[in-house]
Amino acid sequence: MTKRPFKGTLFGSGLPGAGIAATATWEPDGLLLVTTSDKDNPLHYVKNPAASGNGFNNETLRLSWQQEGAERVLILTEPAEQTCCRDTAPNQLKADLQNILKQRKNLESRFRTGGILLTILIILPLVLIGLFLANRNQIATRVVSHIPVSFEARLGDAVLAPSRMQMNIKDTGPAVESISTISKKLTTGSVHNYRFFVAERPEINAFAAPGGVVVVFRGLLDAVESPEELAGVLAHEVAHAELRHSLQGMLKSLGFRTLASIALGDSADSMLADVTKRLTELRFSRDAEREADANGLQRLVKARISPDGMVRFYQRLADQKGPNPPALLSTHPASGDRLDWLRNEVTKLSGPWQPLQVKMESLKQ
Ligand SMILES: [Zn+2]
Repeated sequence: MTKRPFKGTLFGSGLPGAGIAATATWEPDGLLLVTTSDKDNPLHYVKNPAASGNGFNNETLRLSWQQEGAERVLILTEPAEQTCCRDTAPNQLKADLQNILKQRKNLESRFRTGGILLTILIILPLVLIGLFLANRNQIATRVVSHIPVSFEARLGDAVLAPSRMQMNIKDTGPAVESISTISKKLTTGSVHNYRFFVAERPEINAFAAPGGVVVVFRGLLDAVESPEELAGVLAHEVAHAELRHSLQGMLKSLGFRTLASIALGDSADSMLADVTKRLTELRFSRDAEREADANGLQRLVKARISPDGMVRFYQRLADQKGPNPPALLSTHPASGDRLDWLRNEVTKLSGPWQPLQVKMESLKQ
């Protein structure tokens, strides 16, 4: 048995509530205690104290004994002091001290397992929600791929119906015919039955509702300087429709139940009007816009329509940036890098292009 002192705090009757510091050393049949703060009585000898674990997790070591009819306790909180106490203890106490240590390790491992389980139970739902949010676009894309075209068409018509009066939307006339003539070239082979409309409104804007509904604003028709420029905007809008971006956007913002009730005609007109308004302001992600640019460009090339018109028109819109930028710019930002990309792509393409057989006057009527 080696003699090495270890430090603890002594509690008991006649001592301050917070206890007093004490240094202890094992003797063959007891404990020699030195309490420096008790100047009158600094030395105590305790015969064979009892040892036990203490605290929530047995993390402290407790040595106790009876002194003058009352219990006295030496508490060891520091792991190094506990180790010293255990290692230097007389044989009759060593087994008790080892057992306390063993119990503590068991408790610790049980708490650790419980802690891990608890962590999993708390973290797992959060992780799943996080994954869901991170993949929301992918989920919306996947859900959209299962929505029948006929459902989408009903949705587009339902959304547009109550706004027709409000937005002064026409489905006949020379402008609608010209838009249809150009768009026919851009939509060959499409699963959608396209319907084109002109909204008699001054904004330079156009939007694609789900199911092949494309609305062009009068302000846009006034702003284009050639049928090819209009074809550029139409190609981009048709691409949004073909890629089902509007449907995805509505699905994300309204949820499937609302979409279903709209398609089934169960929604109030006021609510539908609000949905249409939202559609005209629907902002697609940068990726979706880039995708629509690329897809639109392909459609122009396939139709042998000069893509220069697309670049020229977006360039002119970008030049008009000011305190009141055109609506098409706020929903379709013709940002510098997007225009640069478009211009660069167009330089790679070579004609011959076929001029569109559409009279400018018809677009202005
Ligand atoms: Zn767009």
